[in-house]
Amino acid sequence: ELQARLRTQIKHKRTYDRLRLSYEKNMTLAVTDALTGAYNRYYLEKNMPRLFDRSKTNKKPISVVMLDIDHFKKINDSYGHHVGDQVLQELTRRINASMRFFDMMVRMGGEEFALVMPETSYGAAMNAGERLRTAVTETPFIINDPKLEIPVTMSVGVAGSDDGQDTAEMLFRKADAALYEAKETGRNKVVGEKEV
Ligand code: GH3
Ligand code: MG
Ligand code: MG
Repeated sequence: ELQARLRTQIKHKRTYDRLRLSYEKNMTLAVTDALTGAYNRYYLEKNMPRLFDRSKTNKKPISVVMLDIDHFKKINDSYGHHVGDQVLQELTRRINASMRFFDMMVRMGGEEFALVMPETSYGAAMNAGERLRTAVTETPFIINDPKLEIPVTMSVGVAGSDDGQDTAEMLFRKADAALYEAKETGRNKVVGEKEV
């Protein structure tokens, strides 16, 4: 009798664990990008108001860093889309390894990413931008399939709100304008916020 009951309990527990795992997996898939594992825009839009409200209330800095791989189309054209995909994955790995725990990496589309950095001043975000650029450019990307070494550079635009009073929309526009200037003035560099 006891044995039979235990068996049922264990069966229930396993079913429950399986459901829970698949629930968690689906939640993760809904808010991340399948290729790189970076957060998607849906997640960004869901969480941005909360992040910016908190900075505003607590008068804490918050910054946005936008990154875009330079001449990524050439990588696709020279080696194929499959290699381009691996470059995007390696880029994400490098950025993840050199950003802070609370920074949030979002794939905005294609080869463009945004990092939202809570409690980070404009100056600190500029330093972070340079650190991230170096992490990407200092050694070529090792691609496994096929075996290749590809040098990659990226351009970076940074905007920050030291008193936390800027809106998300404003910071993103300023970071975007800065990224645009980095592209226009030679690429492979970090540019600080532009008035928009
Ligand atoms: P720039 O230096 O001005 O940024 O030039 P770029 O070539 O990096 O930028 P452009 O916007 O001209 O091209 C981006 C390319 O990225 C075009 C598109 O086919 C490719 N792309 C977008 N998403 C993916 C993806 O998920 N995988 C691969 N392999 N390529 C992608
Ligand atoms: Mg690009
Ligand atoms: Mg782009």
